[in-house]
Amino acid sequence: MAIADALPPLDCTGRLDRLREALPDAGVDALLVTTPANIRWLSGFTGSAGLLLVTGDRALLTTDGRYRTQSVEQTTAAGVAGDVEVTVGGAQDQREAVVAVARGNTVVGLEAEHVTWGAQRSWAELLGEAELSPTRQLVEVLRQTKDAGEILRMERAAAIADEALARVLPLLGRASREAVTESDFATALDHAMRVGGAEESAFETIVASGPNSAKPHARPGSRTIGAGDAVVVDFGAVYDGYRSDMTRTFWVGGEPDGELAEVFSVVAASQSAGVGAVRPGVAAGEVDKVCRDIIAAAGWAERFEHGTGHGVGLDIHEAPSVGPEATAILSPGVVVTVEPGVYLAGLGGVRIEDTLVVTEHGGRPLTRFPKEVAV
Ligand code: ZN
Ligand code: ZN
Repeated sequence: MAIADALPPLDCTGRLDRLREALPDAGVDALLVTTPANIRWLSGFTGSAGLLLVTGDRALLTTDGRYRTQSVEQTTAAGVAGDVEVTVGGAQDQREAVVAVARGNTVVGLEAEHVTWGAQRSWAELLGEAELSPTRQLVEVLRQTKDAGEILRMERAAAIADEALARVLPLLGRASREAVTESDFATALDHAMRVGGAEESAFETIVASGPNSAKPHARPGSRTIGAGDAVVVDFGAVYDGYRSDMTRTFWVGGEPDGELAEVFSVVAASQSAGVGAVRPGVAAGEVDKVCRDIIAAAGWAERFEHGTGHGVGLDIHEAPSVGPEATAILSPGVVVTVEPGVYLAGLGGVRIEDTLVVTEHGGRPLTRFPKEVAV
């Protein structure tokens, strides 16, 4: 696939105001954003170091000298140069700048899931009279709903991954005749994604063959893949910060037989029903239930031990989760995975996963690689 021209920059305008609207309910007057993906989503800034303080009427991005030019370029490209003040300096300068803008705010929120104990203590000292309050998922909840530019990036990531798998799958087909290890195949797939335009792999590629395929998160190793192996391949690409996530399970040397043949057909039915259940207004837990019921009816409830899926975006696992307890209601623009699996220890496992965007009427798969099993 030829990678099309670079996309126009993401438009971050309006995001700061949506966060501000959420602050009163969270009981805070201002939020100190320290999670890089959240800073990126709000301001367009992609540097590895920075702080973003958002108050009712100001937003201050601080970073160090390495990002002097980049920070201004990126906030400008994101359309928020007029809303986000940028200061650059050493760690002490940055903290002082934050303290100066925070002054007058009675309650300052910190991102409780990402702030270390040590950092919380030093902010408590620095911010003096302000009360610090732990917040959870304020920006993450907003990030669940992707805009058109974000979906375009995730589509490209998924297309790069699809194309890479098509390119290297013949190697798996040759595994019944040649020595091909799990890590050989994982390396080839990662390389094909980079050549195809991926910034990097979305996470450590999983290639799990034979008995290893019964371990949902096995790391690719030196095992030689052979005829009669189930091979779980779970991988994704990153394009302009956005990730894709897809799993296909193959059978080397023909069609599966024995108990695993039945596992393949039950997981395929479960995954396809789950994909069909994705639509606006449905609770994420309902999608999980649709998948889980089919596997339970086949007698393998205990062999499906993980959640059905998760949100994807700037992070590989983000809100909403799609598990038995998940209460989030799906709405247009939310991107989730559907990935049921059945794992029989010692024998092998099968997982099938697609990344879907919720549309006005249903769910549209971004990952489109065929689900044929035999290689
Ligand atoms: Zn995956
Ligand atoms: Zn996944």
